[in-house]
Amino acid sequence: NKTSSSNFIKTIVEADLKAGKVSEIVTRFPPEPNGYLHIGHAKSICLNFELADEYKGKTNLRFDDTNPLKEDTEYVDAIQEDVRWLGFEWDDLRFASDYFEEMYNRAVLLIKKGKAYVCDLSAEQMRETRGTLTEPGQDSPHRNRSVEENLDLFARMRAGEFKDGEKVLRAKIDMGSPNITLRDPVLYRISHTHHHRTGDAWCIYPMYDYAHPLGDAIEGISHSICTLEFEDHRPLYDWVVAECEMDAEPHQYEFARLNLTNTIMSKRYLKMLVDEGVVDAWDDPRMPTVSGLRRKGFTPEAIRAFCREIGVSRAYSVVDERMLEHFIREDLKLKALRTMAVIKPLKVVITNYPEGQVEMLDAENNAENEAMGVRQIPFSREIYIEQDDFMENPPSKYFRLFPGNEVRLKHAYFITCQEVIKDAEGRVVELRCTYDPETKSGSGFTGRKVKGTIHWVEASQAIPAEFRLFEPLLLDAEDEDDDKPFLERINPNSMEVLEGFVEPNMKDAEGNDKFQFFRHGYFNVDPKLSGQDRIVFNRIVSLKSSFDV
Ligand code: ATP
Ligand code: MG
Ligand code: MG
Repeated sequence: NKTSSSNFIKTIVEADLKAGKVSEIVTRFPPEPNGYLHIGHAKSICLNFELADEYKGKTNLRFDDTNPLKEDTEYVDAIQEDVRWLGFEWDDLRFASDYFEEMYNRAVLLIKKGKAYVCDLSAEQMRETRGTLTEPGQDSPHRNRSVEENLDLFARMRAGEFKDGEKVLRAKIDMGSPNITLRDPVLYRISHTHHHRTGDAWCIYPMYDYAHPLGDAIEGISHSICTLEFEDHRPLYDWVVAECEMDAEPHQYEFARLNLTNTIMSKRYLKMLVDEGVVDAWDDPRMPTVSGLRRKGFTPEAIRAFCREIGVSRAYSVVDERMLEHFIREDLKLKALRTMAVIKPLKVVITNYPEGQVEMLDAENNAENEAMGVRQIPFSREIYIEQDDFMENPPSKYFRLFPGNEVRLKHAYFITCQEVIKDAEGRVVELRCTYDPETKSGSGFTGRKVKGTIHWVEASQAIPAEFRLFEPLLLDAEDEDDDKPFLERINPNSMEVLEGFVEPNMKDAEGNDKFQFFRHGYFNVDPKLSGQDRIVFNRIVSLKSSFDV
């Protein structure tokens, strides 16, 4: 079911269609190419694309590339890849920079109408004269420049006669407005910066509040959906559309951004993590980026289901990250091959099993999905088990291996621990066990019961593998305004790398293949690190969660 449940934006859309206010639903997803997309962007992507889809409309991907200092084609490419991977295809690919000439012409129109002026105040002076919530702002000394002088100065700004920050073009609205956004906002600034698309053609760049409504109007966007911080900007949005005399009349609607527990989403911080080498790249599996989630092993289906479930509203909220994890478990539960991996190996020798013999045992591929069939796994005298499945001096209620105790080996036999071998330092390095041939799995043996079932991998054919287990990148990540410097809030244990073994049938596993490792959780083959002689598994999520949707 691709259709999301009702929400306030759909109510608006349906009313607009019914009233004939719009004939077609046209939305856009407008990322700034200054970083990689994160899970918050995914919410906006799903909202915009699915909304248009449901009403047989269109969605553009528009790069909001008006700030060349921070933008790069690397991000342009990555964003397109991520949107497609999430399962969406845009109607038109646009760039705000496609419209620079038209935006310039509309600014000239504003000047001619006496609605914009060139101002020489510095950024700081403008801040000082903007006023506060309770105090009106003060008029700039340049507010009453003549139309001719403004036209001349604006043309010279474009021609490159002034340095960065020397002049700006401001809208002439109302310095006494209770809405600070309307106190003569800046429309253009000077920035002698090379642009990744327009090169050095421009040294003045439009501000978001000017460029965005014009881009929407040019593209015939019917519903321009943005996050709540822009609510105060809506009157300015409408002012720009009206005063620039655009043919189309797009409207802005705001929704609450996605916040996730333990997760930082601001691109500024994410970039810092990359630049400081805290993570290996934007797609590090610990990152909340779309590419990081992909590399960790999340699927587009799980992300889309998550976005549908959280819905769209105007109320501030923080979503529990375990809800995102719930959806990947749900998606993989019946799809992923369930196999055995030993991530902290301990050698076990089964002393009464014939030397040199290897038998093949049947193992179901997915206990909840019979259709996935059965595979054969080898069993012999030497196997690996998990170090944590043995204790020399166990507490009561410990049902795994300890001297004298019997456990079930998943898909195989019961074994009993007879002897513990230690190295010179006293560390347990090997166990000697015996097995009972009567207890073979699937044989219907009912002679006695054991309380513990553990997993294992046959030693001679086991494939060495690396396992990466993750914890949140940041301690106290919710608190974006925390006084503590950002880099001091990084969790030093955000990744644990372990060397163990997987079943031999994993030799053909490829990048992004996903598995459930018995008792350990869901894992993804890291597509970047796995290769010819190396296989690296990222843990997507453990098996259990206390979280229910
Ligand atoms: P950030 O603050 O993370 O840098 P941004 O809003 O500056 O994000 P943009 O590239 O401008 O990044 O965002 C593109 C679109 O994605 C915008 O429409 C924005 O509203 C939306 N968006 C960004 N973050 C979130 C979020 N956490 N939840 C929902 N939508 C978001
Ligand atoms: Mg933005
Ligand atoms: Mg931003």
